[in-house]
Amino acid sequence: MPSDIRRLIIDTDTAADDSFALIVGLLHPRANLEAVTIVAGNVPFEQQVQNALLTIKKTGREGEVPVHLGARVPLTREWVESKAHGDGKGNHDFEASTQSPSDEAAAHALVRLVDENPGEIDIIAIGPLTNIATAVMLDRDFAKKVRELWIMGGCDNSVGNVTAAAEYNFYVDPEAADIVLRAGFETTIATWTLTLAQATWSDEQLAEIAKIDNDLARYFTIVNKPNIEYNKTHGIMGSTHPDSVTAMMLVRPDLVKARSRKFVAVETKSDLTRGYSLFDDRPERNAPNATIIDEIDSLGFYEAYVELLETGPRA
Ligand code: CA
Repeated sequence: MPSDIRRLIIDTDTAADDSFALIVGLLHPRANLEAVTIVAGNVPFEQQVQNALLTIKKTGREGEVPVHLGARVPLTREWVESKAHGDGKGNHDFEASTQSPSDEAAAHALVRLVDENPGEIDIIAIGPLTNIATAVMLDRDFAKKVRELWIMGGCDNSVGNVTAAAEYNFYVDPEAADIVLRAGFETTIATWTLTLAQATWSDEQLAEIAKIDNDLARYFTIVNKPNIEYNKTHGIMGSTHPDSVTAMMLVRPDLVKARSRKFVAVETKSDLTRGYSLFDDRPERNAPNATIIDEIDSLGFYEAYVELLETGPRA
């Protein structure tokens, strides 16, 4: 396999932008998506599974990439749904996928695939980190064998999107985030802070996408709609793309304009600041454990995504 092609597993609570991240994994020429693992998050678990299978179908790759079922609840807490996505597929009735989920549980698939291919596989984790934490607990060397772990999560010392303190993925399962950030992965983080400033597409940009005449672009526009409406009620104009920006920056690192190394830790004890992510850039006090994406080529991200949609489903 050419060296610029990344072997991927995407761990996802599939709704809306998760589906758009899956499209990157499924269709980008520099991505080879080997498995999808589903974790409790945005919308009810079975709906997430259907959303992932539907997205695979919409890219023309039905039956080609296994979908593994993972944690149905966070490690120690009650599940918290996201209000931002409706049913995660635009509240629209699509013809369902005929692909069935794999019999192998997500954490087992993660451990097996990484163990069979040490140093070869990147994981893109775009939901709560429950499955990744479970894999860490199943295999003490898991983190060392993963090539890179790319996380969508946290906000750079606030402001969050669930509470003022916390971003959704870290809020839902802070214990899992804590385990994962301490596990010794080669970690890159795309935050909610980055998303708001640099991965939000305007009504004008979305209107351009709506003109693309193929089934995949039409799927994007339908699935994206509830997010636009939700954002308007929260003072954000356009649609936010935290998960797809994470996936795209992994396969298009040339679009990352600035990175920094920081120590990142997640609050697990407080009710007030549950899931708060502390970003400390004083290496003399706290050794960095993650690379943070600080700045991207925002227009380049949009254009790269439009190119994927214009190419359409795989024949
Ligand atoms: Ca997600």
